[in-house]
Amino acid sequence: MSRIVVLGSLNTDLVAQVPHLPRPGETVLGDRLRTFPGGKGANQAVAAARLGGLVSMVGRVGNDTFGTALLEQLASDGVDAAGVARDPQAPTGAALILVETGGQNQIAVVPGANLAVADGDVSRALELLADDSLLVLQQEIAFQAVEEAIRRSRARVLLNAAPPRPLGPDLLRRVDVLVVNETEAAALLFDRPVTGPALAADAARVAHERGVALAVVTLGAAGAVFCDEDGPQLVDPFPVAAVDVTAAGDAFVGALAVALSAGVPARQAVRLANAAGAAAATRAGAQTSLPFPQDLKRLFGIDWPVAVPAPAQRP
Ligand code: ADP
Repeated sequence: MSRIVVLGSLNTDLVAQVPHLPRPGETVLGDRLRTFPGGKGANQAVAAARLGGLVSMVGRVGNDTFGTALLEQLASDGVDAAGVARDPQAPTGAALILVETGGQNQIAVVPGANLAVADGDVSRALELLADDSLLVLQQEIAFQAVEEAIRRSRARVLLNAAPPRPLGPDLLRRVDVLVVNETEAAALLFDRPVTGPALAADAARVAHERGVALAVVTLGAAGAVFCDEDGPQLVDPFPVAAVDVTAAGDAFVGALAVALSAGVPARQAVRLANAAGAAAATRAGAQTSLPFPQDLKRLFGIDWPVAVPAPAQRP
């Protein structure tokens, strides 16, 4: 198993349950405040580690209690977090989430230390890479750092282009594995909507033609399409009763990273990623919903191809 290095965001999600979302100037009383580890980077690192990946996380948190808790959480999931720096100035990234009875929500994200990720952090990530490693990136940290990492990486790069933003053709060409959902595919590759398997297959093919060896477009409950040198292919979903699709995309990316790192061929790797995404959709929460191999066995009868070191227990 080769090393997976995730250079990305770490956030604390603060979730309050409220009877209704406040109007401007209004104060509402919430009945419960919960704190969850989050950020696409940390979620994907945990997703990969739970599925047997050898994972190092690089990023920035603040010198505050939230940052300490995030580092402890990563360690308890078996992620090497030595590459996560404590920023002396910026606070740990946070998402302030109000959830109304009935499920509507209101979210303010304060990226904090994630936006302070800079060249020094990129260098720390690159030092952890061997030639056969996989560098996993998303777009919730300072974008210059993402560009710099793509430009300088000697190892294969997996980019989950979320949230979407324009990426120059010279950088896209350096991306080996691209993972986007339909919205991100539309923003990155097309100036028209990408909805459904046929348009997603077109988008994946365009990305492949622009130099991405393996381009994947996720389709929610409809599974995913990918395009490599053999052309676009649809990979069927695992039908589930979805409870909460938060972090389904992160589970997908983490599983795909592990499968590819273990040498699993593209079609099979995307199928396993679909299983991980579907499994995450069956449970509430972000990191709490990220599956272990035993979840994939129980739900879908899948024998995960990578051994997972003990202890791999849901916290
Ligand atoms: P994102 O959460 O990033 O928008 P998607 O909604 O496309 O990404 O979900 C990512 C993957 O998770 C999908 O490709 C699919 O494999 C799986 N998935 C998501 N929602 C469901 C669902 N309702 N049923 C089955 N699989 C799902």
